[in-house]
Amino acid sequence: MSAAVPGAVPFRELKVDALIVSALPNIRYLTGFTGDNALAVATPDSITLFTDPRFTIQAGEECSCKTVTVAKGGLEPAAAELVRKKKWKRIGFESTRLAYDSYHRLKGALPPGAALKPLAGAVERLRMIKSADELARIRQSVLTNSRAFANTVRGLRPGLTEFEIAAQLEFEMRRFGGEKAAFDSIVAAGDRSALPHARPTGRRISNDELLLIDMGTCQDGYMSDMTRVLFLGRPPQRLRNMYKAVAEAQLAAIDAVRPGVTAGEVDRKARRVLESHGLGKAFVHSTGHGLGLEIHEPPRIGRKDPTKLDAGMTITIEPGAYVEGFGGIRIEDTVVVTRAGCEVLTPTSKEFMLL
Ligand code: ZN
Ligand code: ZN
Repeated sequence: MSAAVPGAVPFRELKVDALIVSALPNIRYLTGFTGDNALAVATPDSITLFTDPRFTIQAGEECSCKTVTVAKGGLEPAAAELVRKKKWKRIGFESTRLAYDSYHRLKGALPPGAALKPLAGAVERLRMIKSADELARIRQSVLTNSRAFANTVRGLRPGLTEFEIAAQLEFEMRRFGGEKAAFDSIVAAGDRSALPHARPTGRRISNDELLLIDMGTCQDGYMSDMTRVLFLGRPPQRLRNMYKAVAEAQLAAIDAVRPGVTAGEVDRKARRVLESHGLGKAFVHSTGHGLGLEIHEPPRIGRKDPTKLDAGMTITIEPGAYVEGFGGIRIEDTVVVTRAGCEVLTPTSKEFMLL
Protein backbone atom coordinates (compact mmCIF):
# COMPACT_ATOMS: atom_id res chain seq x y z
CA MET A 1 0.00 0.00 0.00
CA SER A 2 1.01 3.57 -0.53
CA ALA A 3 2.47 5.19 2.58
CA ALA A 4 0.65 8.35 1.75
CA VAL A 5 -2.97 9.28 1.92
CA PRO A 6 -2.45 11.31 -1.22
CA GLY A 7 -4.14 14.63 -1.56
CA ALA A 8 -6.03 14.70 -4.82
CA VAL A 9 -4.16 15.75 -7.94
CA PRO A 10 -5.81 19.15 -8.70
CA PHE A 11 -7.06 18.27 -12.20
CA ARG A 12 -9.29 21.33 -12.55
CA GLU A 13 -6.42 23.67 -11.76
CA LEU A 14 -4.07 21.77 -14.09
CA LYS A 15 -6.69 21.83 -16.87
CA VAL A 16 -6.08 18.26 -18.03
CA ASP A 17 -8.28 15.17 -18.32
CA ALA A 18 -5.49 12.82 -17.31
CA LEU A 19 -1.95 13.03 -15.99
CA ILE A 20 0.71 10.58 -17.12
CA VAL A 21 3.06 10.10 -14.19
CA SER A 22 6.56 8.88 -15.07
CA ALA A 23 8.73 9.77 -12.06
CA LEU A 24 9.04 6.64 -9.93
CA PRO A 25 8.82 8.43 -6.56
CA ASN A 26 5.59 10.09 -7.75
CA ILE A 27 4.25 6.73 -8.91
CA ARG A 28 5.14 5.23 -5.55
CA TYR A 29 3.39 8.08 -3.77
CA LEU A 30 0.18 7.69 -5.75
CA THR A 31 0.00 3.90 -6.06
CA GLY A 32 2.40 2.30 -3.55
CA PHE A 33 4.34 0.59 -6.36
CA THR A 34 8.06 0.34 -5.57
CA GLY A 35 9.34 -1.39 -8.71
CA ASP A 36 11.62 0.37 -11.15
CA ASN A 37 9.69 0.35 -14.42
CA ALA A 38 6.21 1.84 -14.60
CA LEU A 39 3.94 4.58 -15.90
CA ALA A 40 0.79 5.64 -14.10
CA VAL A 41 -2.21 7.33 -15.68
CA ALA A 42 -4.16 9.37 -13.13
CA THR A 43 -7.57 10.97 -13.67
CA PRO A 44 -9.96 12.64 -11.21
CA ASP A 45 -11.55 9.28 -10.41
CA SER A 46 -9.08 6.55 -11.28
CA ILE A 47 -5.47 5.57 -11.48
CA THR A 48 -3.98 2.85 -13.68
CA LEU A 49 -0.49 1.48 -13.30
CA PHE A 50 1.36 0.06 -16.31
CA THR A 51 4.38 -2.13 -15.71
CA ASP A 52 6.20 -5.07 -17.30
CA PRO A 53 5.94 -8.82 -16.48
CA ARG A 54 8.89 -8.70 -14.05
CA PHE A 55 6.68 -6.69 -11.70
CA THR A 56 3.23 -8.28 -12.12
CA ILE A 57 3.25 -10.06 -8.74
CA GLN A 58 4.80 -7.11 -6.94
CA ALA A 59 2.27 -4.66 -8.39
CA GLY A 60 -0.55 -6.95 -7.30
CA GLU A 61 0.82 -6.99 -3.77
CA GLU A 62 1.60 -3.30 -3.48
CA CYS A 63 -1.16 -1.50 -5.37
CA SER A 64 -4.85 -1.15 -4.73
CA CYS A 65 -5.34 0.64 -8.06
CA LYS A 66 -5.87 -1.07 -11.43
CA THR A 67 -2.63 -2.58 -12.74
CA VAL A 68 -1.84 -3.58 -16.31
CA THR A 69 1.10 -5.79 -17.32
CA VAL A 70 2.54 -4.82 -20.69
CA ALA A 71 4.37 -7.80 -22.15
CA LYS A 72 5.55 -6.12 -25.33
CA GLY A 73 5.42 -2.86 -27.22
CA GLY A 74 6.38 -0.64 -24.28
CA LEU A 75 4.52 1.22 -21.56
CA GLU A 76 3.93 4.45 -23.52
CA PRO A 77 1.81 2.90 -26.31
CA ALA A 78 -0.19 1.01 -23.65
CA ALA A 79 -0.89 4.24 -21.79
CA ALA A 80 -1.78 5.94 -25.09
CA GLU A 81 -4.23 3.14 -25.85
CA LEU A 82 -6.10 3.90 -22.60
CA VAL A 83 -6.24 7.58 -23.62
CA ARG A 84 -7.75 6.55 -26.98
CA LYS A 85 -10.34 4.29 -25.36
CA LYS A 86 -11.45 6.91 -22.85
CA LYS A 87 -11.37 9.70 -25.46
CA TRP A 88 -9.33 11.98 -23.18
CA LYS A 89 -8.11 15.08 -24.97
CA ARG A 90 -5.83 17.03 -22.65
CA ILE A 91 -3.05 14.86 -21.30
CA GLY A 92 -0.59 16.25 -18.77
CA PHE A 93 2.91 14.82 -18.55
CA GLU A 94 5.80 15.43 -16.17
CA SER A 95 7.92 17.66 -18.38
CA THR A 96 10.92 17.72 -16.07
CA ARG A 97 10.88 13.98 -15.45
CA LEU A 98 9.99 12.23 -18.71
CA ALA A 99 12.91 11.13 -20.89
CA TYR A 100 13.00 12.62 -24.38
CA ASP A 101 12.69 9.18 -25.99
CA SER A 102 9.69 8.24 -23.84
CA TYR A 103 8.04 11.55 -24.68
CA HIS A 104 8.35 10.81 -28.39
CA ARG A 105 7.08 7.25 -28.00
CA LEU A 106 4.08 8.60 -26.11
CA LYS A 107 3.42 11.41 -28.56
CA GLY A 108 3.70 9.04 -31.52
CA ALA A 109 1.17 6.62 -30.02
CA LEU A 110 -1.52 9.11 -28.97
CA PRO A 111 -4.70 9.32 -31.06
CA PRO A 112 -5.24 12.43 -33.19
CA GLY A 113 -6.90 15.16 -31.16
CA ALA A 114 -5.17 14.25 -27.91
CA ALA A 115 -2.68 16.94 -26.90
CA LEU A 116 0.19 16.65 -24.46
CA LYS A 117 0.50 19.44 -21.94
CA PRO A 118 3.80 19.87 -20.09
CA LEU A 119 3.27 20.01 -16.34
CA ALA A 120 6.03 20.13 -13.77
CA GLY A 121 5.86 19.46 -10.08
CA ALA A 122 2.15 18.64 -9.75
CA VAL A 123 2.67 15.48 -7.68
CA GLU A 124 5.77 16.89 -5.98
CA ARG A 125 3.60 19.71 -4.63
CA LEU A 126 1.23 17.17 -3.05
CA ARG A 127 4.20 15.32 -1.59
CA MET A 128 5.46 18.36 0.33
CA ILE A 129 3.00 17.81 3.20
CA LYS A 130 3.65 14.43 4.80
CA SER A 131 0.96 12.16 6.20
CA ALA A 132 1.26 10.75 9.73
CA ASP A 133 2.47 7.47 8.25
CA GLU A 134 5.14 9.19 6.17
CA LEU A 135 6.30 11.19 9.20
CA ALA A 136 6.63 7.98 11.22
CA ARG A 137 8.86 6.52 8.50
CA ILE A 138 11.01 9.64 8.28
CA ARG A 139 11.37 9.68 12.07
CA GLN A 140 12.56 6.05 11.96
CA SER A 141 14.96 6.77 9.10
CA VAL A 142 16.45 9.69 11.08
CA LEU A 143 16.93 7.46 14.15
CA THR A 144 18.63 4.75 12.14
CA ASN A 145 20.90 7.33 10.57
CA SER A 146 21.95 8.74 13.94
CA ARG A 147 22.56 5.26 15.36
CA ALA A 148 24.74 4.38 12.40
CA PHE A 149 26.69 7.58 12.91
CA ALA A 150 27.18 6.94 16.65
CA ASN A 151 28.41 3.39 16.09
CA THR A 152 30.81 4.50 13.37
CA VAL A 153 32.21 7.37 15.44
CA ARG A 154 32.93 4.93 18.27
CA GLY A 155 35.35 3.09 16.00
CA LEU A 156 37.08 6.14 14.49
CA ARG A 157 40.84 6.29 14.81
CA PRO A 158 43.73 7.81 12.85
CA GLY A 159 44.77 5.65 9.92
CA LEU A 160 41.29 4.79 8.66
CA THR A 161 40.57 5.92 5.11
CA GLU A 162 37.58 8.02 4.07
CA PHE A 163 36.44 4.97 2.05
CA GLU A 164 36.54 2.72 5.11
CA ILE A 165 34.55 5.21 7.18
CA ALA A 166 31.90 5.55 4.44
CA ALA A 167 31.65 1.76 4.20
CA GLN A 168 31.21 1.48 7.98
CA LEU A 169 28.45 4.14 7.98
CA GLU A 170 26.55 2.27 5.29
CA PHE A 171 27.05 -1.11 6.97
CA GLU A 172 25.64 0.28 10.22
CA MET A 173 22.65 1.88 8.46
CA ARG A 174 21.64 -1.50 7.12
CA ARG A 175 22.26 -3.24 10.42
CA PHE A 176 19.73 -0.88 12.02
CA GLY A 177 17.08 -1.49 9.38
CA GLY A 178 17.89 0.96 6.60
CA GLU A 179 17.57 -0.48 3.09
CA LYS A 180 20.36 1.63 1.63
CA ALA A 181 22.12 4.95 1.92
CA ALA A 182 19.94 7.87 0.83
CA PHE A 183 22.92 9.16 -1.22
CA ASP A 184 26.65 8.48 -1.48
CA SER A 185 27.95 9.30 1.98
CA ILE A 186 30.27 12.28 2.16
CA VAL A 187 33.35 11.67 4.30
CA ALA A 188 35.93 14.43 3.92
CA ALA A 189 39.05 14.79 6.03
CA GLY A 190 41.27 17.84 6.55
CA ASP A 191 41.04 20.61 3.99
CA ARG A 192 38.93 18.34 1.72
CA SER A 193 36.05 19.30 4.03
CA ALA A 194 36.02 22.62 2.14
CA LEU A 195 34.46 20.73 -0.79
CA PRO A 196 30.76 20.77 0.15
CA HIS A 197 30.10 17.60 -1.87
CA ALA A 198 33.40 15.79 -1.47
CA ARG A 199 33.49 12.15 -2.52
CA PRO A 200 35.31 9.81 -0.14
CA THR A 201 38.83 8.85 -1.21
CA GLY A 202 41.59 6.54 -0.01
CA ARG A 203 43.02 9.39 2.09
CA ARG A 204 43.78 8.34 5.66
CA ILE A 205 42.54 10.48 8.54
CA SER A 206 45.15 11.62 11.00
CA ASN A 207 45.44 13.51 14.26
CA ASP A 208 44.83 17.25 14.32
CA GLU A 209 42.43 17.35 11.46
CA LEU A 210 38.80 17.93 10.66
CA LEU A 211 36.43 15.22 9.55
CA LEU A 212 33.12 16.15 7.89
CA ILE A 213 30.48 13.42 7.60
CA ASP A 214 27.26 13.99 5.64
CA MET A 215 25.08 10.89 5.57
CA GLY A 216 21.51 9.82 4.96
CA THR A 217 19.54 6.61 5.34
CA CYS A 218 16.73 5.34 3.15
CA GLN A 219 14.36 3.30 5.30
CA ASP A 220 10.91 2.11 4.19
CA GLY A 221 11.42 4.35 1.18
CA TYR A 222 11.94 7.52 3.23
CA MET A 223 15.11 9.58 3.55
CA SER A 224 17.01 11.20 6.39
CA ASP A 225 19.96 13.58 6.10
CA MET A 226 22.52 14.75 8.66
CA THR A 227 25.94 16.43 8.66
CA ARG A 228 28.33 16.55 11.58
CA VAL A 229 31.91 17.71 11.89
CA LEU A 230 34.50 16.13 14.17
CA PHE A 231 38.06 17.00 15.05
CA LEU A 232 40.78 14.53 15.94
CA GLY A 233 42.58 16.41 18.66
CA ARG A 234 42.35 20.03 19.78
CA PRO A 235 41.00 22.31 17.05
CA PRO A 236 42.68 25.70 16.44
CA GLN A 237 40.78 28.79 17.57
CA ARG A 238 39.92 29.84 14.01
CA LEU A 239 38.10 26.54 13.48
CA ARG A 240 36.28 26.81 16.81
CA ASN A 241 35.07 30.26 15.81
CA MET A 242 33.90 29.00 12.45
CA TYR A 243 32.06 26.14 14.12
CA LYS A 244 30.35 28.52 16.54
CA ALA A 245 29.25 30.79 13.68
CA VAL A 246 27.76 27.92 11.67
CA ALA A 247 26.02 26.52 14.77
CA GLU A 248 24.57 29.96 15.49
CA ALA A 249 23.34 30.24 11.88
CA GLN A 250 21.78 26.80 12.04
CA LEU A 251 19.92 27.58 15.28
CA ALA A 252 18.73 30.94 13.90
CA ALA A 253 17.31 29.22 10.82
CA ILE A 254 15.62 26.49 12.89
CA ASP A 255 14.18 29.19 15.11
CA ALA A 256 12.59 30.83 12.07
CA VAL A 257 10.86 27.67 10.83
CA ARG A 258 7.09 27.83 11.31
CA PRO A 259 3.96 27.72 9.17
CA GLY A 260 3.51 30.82 7.04
CA VAL A 261 7.19 31.75 6.84
CA THR A 262 8.70 31.47 3.36
CA ALA A 263 11.60 29.16 2.61
CA GLY A 264 13.52 32.26 1.47
CA GLU A 265 13.11 33.94 4.87
CA VAL A 266 14.55 30.89 6.65
CA ASP A 267 17.52 30.93 4.28
CA ARG A 268 18.14 34.62 4.91
CA LYS A 269 18.21 34.07 8.69
CA ALA A 270 21.14 31.66 8.36
CA ARG A 271 22.86 33.86 5.80
CA ARG A 272 22.65 36.99 7.95
CA VAL A 273 24.33 35.24 10.89
CA LEU A 274 27.19 33.99 8.74
CA GLU A 275 27.57 37.44 7.15
CA SER A 276 27.85 38.99 10.63
CA HIS A 277 30.80 36.67 11.26
CA GLY A 278 32.46 37.60 7.97
CA LEU A 279 31.53 34.22 6.47
CA GLY A 280 28.84 35.32 4.03
CA LYS A 281 30.93 34.46 0.98
CA ALA A 282 31.99 31.14 2.52
CA PHE A 283 28.35 29.94 2.55
CA VAL A 284 28.08 28.69 -1.01
CA HIS A 285 24.83 26.71 -1.04
CA SER A 286 21.25 27.07 0.13
CA THR A 287 20.18 26.49 3.73
CA GLY A 288 18.32 23.25 3.09
CA HIS A 289 15.86 21.21 1.09
CA GLY A 290 12.71 19.18 1.43
CA LEU A 291 13.12 15.41 1.77
CA GLY A 292 10.85 12.40 1.84
CA LEU A 293 10.66 9.74 -0.87
CA GLU A 294 13.57 11.61 -2.46
CA ILE A 295 16.59 13.14 -0.81
CA HIS A 296 16.04 16.46 -2.57
CA GLU A 297 12.45 17.53 -3.12
CA PRO A 298 10.52 20.78 -2.81
CA PRO A 299 10.67 23.15 -1.09
CA ARG A 300 14.22 24.35 -1.56
CA ILE A 301 15.28 26.40 1.45
CA GLY A 302 17.06 28.90 -0.78
CA ARG A 303 17.21 32.64 -1.10
CA LYS A 304 14.57 32.87 -3.80
CA ASP A 305 12.10 30.14 -2.86
CA PRO A 306 8.75 31.83 -2.14
CA THR A 307 7.11 28.60 -0.86
CA LYS A 308 5.34 29.22 2.42
CA LEU A 309 6.24 26.55 4.96
CA ASP A 310 3.36 24.54 6.35
CA ALA A 311 2.82 21.94 9.07
CA GLY A 312 3.83 18.47 7.89
CA MET A 313 6.71 19.56 5.63
CA THR A 314 10.02 17.84 6.28
CA ILE A 315 13.14 19.83 5.47
CA THR A 316 16.82 19.98 6.28
CA ILE A 317 18.55 22.96 7.84
CA GLU A 318 22.21 22.84 6.86
CA PRO A 319 24.17 26.07 6.65
CA GLY A 320 27.91 25.75 6.13
CA ALA A 321 31.12 27.71 5.65
CA TYR A 322 33.96 26.59 3.39
CA VAL A 323 37.45 28.00 3.16
CA GLU A 324 39.70 26.61 0.46
CA GLY A 325 42.95 25.16 1.78
CA PHE A 326 41.66 25.35 5.36
CA GLY A 327 38.45 23.40 5.83
CA GLY A 328 34.68 23.41 5.89
CA ILE A 329 32.00 23.20 8.55
CA ARG A 330 28.40 22.20 7.95
CA ILE A 331 25.78 21.28 10.53
CA GLU A 332 22.65 19.60 9.20
CA ASP A 333 19.50 18.31 10.86
CA THR A 334 16.25 16.88 9.54
CA VAL A 335 13.34 18.97 10.78
CA VAL A 336 9.54 18.72 10.57
CA VAL A 337 7.38 21.84 10.43
CA THR A 338 4.69 21.68 13.13
CA ARG A 339 1.70 23.90 13.85
CA ALA A 340 3.61 25.67 16.61
CA GLY A 341 6.96 25.94 14.81
CA CYS A 342 9.12 22.94 14.16
CA GLU A 343 10.60 19.83 15.70
CA VAL A 344 14.21 18.84 15.12
CA LEU A 345 14.06 15.09 14.47
CA THR A 346 17.84 14.49 14.50
CA PRO A 347 18.85 13.41 18.04
CA THR A 348 22.64 13.59 17.52
CA SER A 349 24.45 16.25 19.57
CA LYS A 350 25.55 19.42 17.78
CA GLU A 351 28.56 20.05 19.98
CA PHE A 352 31.86 20.22 18.08
CA MET A 353 32.86 16.57 18.50
CA LEU A 354 36.46 16.17 19.61
CA LEU A 355 38.07 12.74 19.45
ZN1 ZN B 1 23.33 16.06 3.91
ZN1 ZN C 1 20.98 17.81 2.82
